[in-house]
Amino acid sequence: MNSTLLRDFRLIAQRWQAEHALVVDEAGAANLERIRWLGPLIIAINGFHALVFLLLALQKGSTTGAPPWEWVLCGLHFTMGLTIAALTWMAHHKGLRYRRSLARWMAPPMALVVLGFAVAIACADQWITPSVTPFLIACLCVSVGLYLRPAPALGVFVLAYIGFFIALGHFQEEPRVLLSIRLNGLTASLMGWALSVLLWRNFTTIALQKTQVARVNAELQTKQRELERLTRQDGLTGLFNRNTFVELSSTELKRALRQGSSTTILLFDLDHFKRINDTWGHPAGDAMLRHVAQTSVQSVRSTDLVGRLGGEEFIVLLPHTHADAGRRIAEKIRQRLEASPLQWKGETLHITASFGLSSTTAAEGRSFDHLYNEADKALYLAKQRGRNRVI
Ligand code: GH3
Ligand code: MG
Ligand code: MG
Repeated sequence: MNSTLLRDFRLIAQRWQAEHALVVDEAGAANLERIRWLGPLIIAINGFHALVFLLLALQKGSTTGAPPWEWVLCGLHFTMGLTIAALTWMAHHKGLRYRRSLARWMAPPMALVVLGFAVAIACADQWITPSVTPFLIACLCVSVGLYLRPAPALGVFVLAYIGFFIALGHFQEEPRVLLSIRLNGLTASLMGWALSVLLWRNFTTIALQKTQVARVNAELQTKQRELERLTRQDGLTGLFNRNTFVELSSTELKRALRQGSSTTILLFDLDHFKRINDTWGHPAGDAMLRHVAQTSVQSVRSTDLVGRLGGEEFIVLLPHTHADAGRRIAEKIRQRLEASPLQWKGETLHITASFGLSSTTAAEGRSFDHLYNEADKALYLAKQRGRNRVI
C-alpha cells in the first residue's frame, strides 16, 4: 500500500518535472512582466509607509526619547523600496544580455527579498503589536505575484520561515505570544507554498494547452494548404487541373484585354498513348505523363500557364503571345517531346504529340471557351493529318 503510494507520488513528481521544464522560459517571461508592473506598486506602498513612519518619528523626536521603532520601520520600508526599485529596473531593462537567465532565476531571489524584509518589519512591529501581518501579506504576495516552481518555492518559504522563527525569538519576549506568532508564521508559510504550487500548476496546464493548441493550429494550416494545393493541382503531374486552369486563363484573358495584348493557347494530346499503357503497363503511362508535363513546363516561360485537362491531354496558355510566336513555341515543345524519350526500367519509350493552336488579339477579345473549341478542332485536324504536328 505504502509502496504503491510512493510510486504514484514519484510518477506524479516526474511528470510535473517534465512539464515544468517545458514552461520554465514562459514562466520566466511572465515573472519579468509581473515584476515590471508589481515593482512600482510595492515601491509606492513602501514609500507611503516610510513617509508615515518618518512623520511619526519626527513628531515623537521633539517630545520624548521613546524607542526608535518608527525610525527602524521607516528605514526598513525605505531600504525595501530601494531594493525592489533595483530589481524592477533589471526586469525593465530589455537590453540586458543576460535577460533570459535573469528571467529564469530572478523570481526566487525576488521572493526571498520580499519575505526577508517582511520578517524584519514583523520583528520591528513586535515593539508595538504582536502581529504577523507583514509576514502573512508577504507570503500571499509572493505566492500570488510570482510563478515559482514547487521545489524552489519550498526552499524560499522554508528559508523565510527559519528566518522568521529565529528573528522573532529575539524580538518577542512573551513566550506564549511568541509561540502563537511562530505557529501563525508557519501557517502563513505553508499556505503561501500551497497557493504557490496551485498557481504554478495552473500556469503550467494553461501554458501547455496553449502550446498544444498552437501546434494543432499549425498542423491544420499545413493540411489546409496541402488540401488547397490538391484542389488546384493535378495529382499526377503537379500541373494545374482543369478547373484551376480555366479560372486562371479567364483572369489572364481579362488582363490581356486591358493591356491590349494577344494571347495564344496550345492544346496537345499524346499520340497513340494507349499503346504505352498496353505495352509497358499503367505505371509506365503515368511516368510518361509526368515526363511530358516536366518537358512542357521546362519549354515555356514561368509566366505561362500549363495544365492537364485529363487523360493525356495538356494545355498551355501563353500571355503576350500572338499566333506566330505561339506556333514557334508549340513546335519547340513538339520537337523536344519527340527528341527526349522516357527512360523506363532500362527501356527507351518514345512519344510524340499533336498540337492544336488558337489565338486572340485584344481587339478580337475571344473568350476561353471560344479559344478552347478552336484549338480542339485544330488538334483533331492534326491527328487526322498524321499526328506529331502543329495545326
Ligand atoms: P490518339 O493518338 O488518337 O490520341 O491515341 P491515344 O491512344 O493517345 O488515345 P486514346 O484516347 O485511344 O487513349 C488514351 C489513353 O490514355 C487511354 C487511357 O487508358 C490513357 N490514360 C488516361 N489517363 C491516364 C492516366 O492518368 N494514366 C495513364 N497511365 N493512362 C491514362
Ligand atoms: Mg492521345
Ligand atoms: Mg486523348
